[in-house]
Amino acid sequence: MAIIGFIGLGNMGGPMAENLLKAGHELRVFDLAQTSVDKAVAAGASAAASIPEVVKGAEVVVTMLPAGPHVRAVLTDGGALANADYGTLFIECSTIDVDTARAMHAAATEAGMEMVDAPVSGGTAGAAGATLTFMMGGSEAAYERARPICDKMGKAVIHAGGPGNGQAAKICNNMILGVTMIGVCEALVLAEKLGLDHQKLYDISSQSSGSCWSLNTYCPVPGPVPTSPANNDYKPGFAAAMMEKDLKLAQAAAQSVGAATPMGAAALALYGLFLNAGQGNVDFSGIIKMIRGN
Ligand code: NAD
Repeated sequence: MAIIGFIGLGNMGGPMAENLLKAGHELRVFDLAQTSVDKAVAAGASAAASIPEVVKGAEVVVTMLPAGPHVRAVLTDGGALANADYGTLFIECSTIDVDTARAMHAAATEAGMEMVDAPVSGGTAGAAGATLTFMMGGSEAAYERARPICDKMGKAVIHAGGPGNGQAAKICNNMILGVTMIGVCEALVLAEKLGLDHQKLYDISSQSSGSCWSLNTYCPVPGPVPTSPANNDYKPGFAAAMMEKDLKLAQAAAQSVGAATPMGAAALALYGLFLNAGQGNVDFSGIIKMIRGN
């Protein structure tokens, strides 16, 4: 079992850290929010007072932070890379832009550390149930080192290629998700106006060529999929603000390499309108209300 430093104990990081504790690892934790630290300590972790303290003596450091600037604030500016023992493995799980991820890999290599960018899919339920999917970028050796740790927090750990490719996979995946969710919402609202029951369209399309995750397992209207946020007043789940962030990352990446992503751009524009209407904390499937016009 490893000594693991864990930084970022929010909605995702908190339960992920608890799953590492359950697996028998020794955890030292750090977060700016004391309540999150207290929760992890109650579950068996020990609290560190600073970033240098949480990384010192750790064999592995896991980070789960909101966005690129926070990752820089911890890894480079905050001294995590500078203060860790030589050869420490950094598993960077936040969803961030590909350029920052690659810059962090370079800084880690320069500091004598190993790193994987390892964003996840599966949401807070996946974090709690240890059923996340990890998409990893980095060397084969770093991936092999990170896999047994991430196995305790997820159901699939996939090597996507070199540095930054985990983030590339994540933003491509979430662009598919944003686009398909809007397509499913439009189809369900059209069905309403044509006098076709939600359940009937679900029964048919979930077994036809319209089948997709946004419909089959995350259906944006109450009824057909009892576990979807639509049945819980669109409480996240996966907040619309997070989806907008990921669609922005996808557009920035597309522009930087000259990829044509008009549907991704349209999805970003629609989620931008949804956020402007004050709906950022609503589940991303709640955009059906805006599409319906209520
Ligand atoms: P969150 O805001 O709940 O948690 C982030 C945590 O990081 C907070 O506890 C915050 O205090 C801490 N933090 C911020 N700056 C820090 C610093 N400098 N030092 C120490 N701690 C710091 O966010 P979350 O929902 O846990 O998401 C984390 C990442 O996972 C994001 O990049 C998000 O895009 C990604 N993600 C989220 C979901 C989801 O459903 N919530 C799903 C997949 C991926």
